[in-house]
Amino acid sequence: MHSYSLIAPAKINLYLEILGDRPDGYHELVMLLQSIELADQIDIRTLSTDNIRVNCDHPQVPQDESNLAYKAANLMKEQFPDVFAQFGGLEITINKHIPVAAGLAGGSTDAAAVLVGIDMIWQLGLTQPELQELASQLGSDIPFCIAGGTVLATGRGEQLSPLPDLDSLHLVLAKYRSLEVSTPWAYKTYRSEFGDSYVRETEDLEARAAKVHSGPMVQAIANKDGSQIGQLLHNDLEKVVLPAHPQVSQLREAFQNTGALGVMMSGSGPTVFALCESQAQAQEIQQQVRSTITDPDLDFWVTKFSSTGIRIS
Ligand code: ATP
Repeated sequence: MHSYSLIAPAKINLYLEILGDRPDGYHELVMLLQSIELADQIDIRTLSTDNIRVNCDHPQVPQDESNLAYKAANLMKEQFPDVFAQFGGLEITINKHIPVAAGLAGGSTDAAAVLVGIDMIWQLGLTQPELQELASQLGSDIPFCIAGGTVLATGRGEQLSPLPDLDSLHLVLAKYRSLEVSTPWAYKTYRSEFGDSYVRETEDLEARAAKVHSGPMVQAIANKDGSQIGQLLHNDLEKVVLPAHPQVSQLREAFQNTGALGVMMSGSGPTVFALCESQAQAQEIQQQVRSTITDPDLDFWVTKFSSTGIRIS
């Protein structure tokens, strides 16, 4: 039997700008993506049978073919049928710590871990670009999740330019446990409300992405300037998610009154994060917001930036 245990970190968006539509139905984006230490643990082992099995005891995570981890294993089976036949089936156990449907790429990072784990179990020796090419067939955030760190992502999020590591910043995340936001809903709503102002020319798209690449946020990351990064946080999806979910707006406001370096919703939400200089500050801010909003449905996590993506546990 062959087995591996992998750490699959979540991500936050430090910057998310929607530029326009793509012929494939996705959006053209410019994003700054950041891995964080909050992570799932994925155990993968070979089975003597020839099926793919996914176990997860989290009630919101499917255990059937719709699980992204299953889809990743199935893609590897389709790409390498002879190796699959030689090694047999696969059992994938997801120890879920990343909140689900939270804008933290929980499913995407699980899928990334499965691609990396199967590559190791089957001793395929795939390069990172080869793994990322497979990952892009499954979802836009999955190529990023493989390498992780601090990255500028363009296209639909799969074209990646690594930036200098930023692992000194801490953060506190908060999410209402029973509130989920569907990523397709957020983008569809954005298109219906703001589609008129989309960039249509390829050169204009390239110019907008280049502007972010040479702009103040990337400079602040290069300088590891936490307060500057905090001030430059940006997420276009807040324009549709916050009006639809007033309690997320209130949560954001509560964080803004704490003296954090910066506050923003991650991805399509509804998780809100506050950047902090230290773990002590993050814990203090968590306490402050917890005493302002006493709703027992509100969960918090204190964590920090991570410079790695998928790694062996
Ligand atoms: P993203 O930030 O990439 O848009 P997200 O963090 O908002 O994603 P996920 O946690 O990936 O959202 O979950 C979205 C949906 O995907 C869930 O409602 C769940 O049913 C389904 N899903 C499929 N596989 C997984 C998985 N391995 N982990 C979590 N959810 C999964």
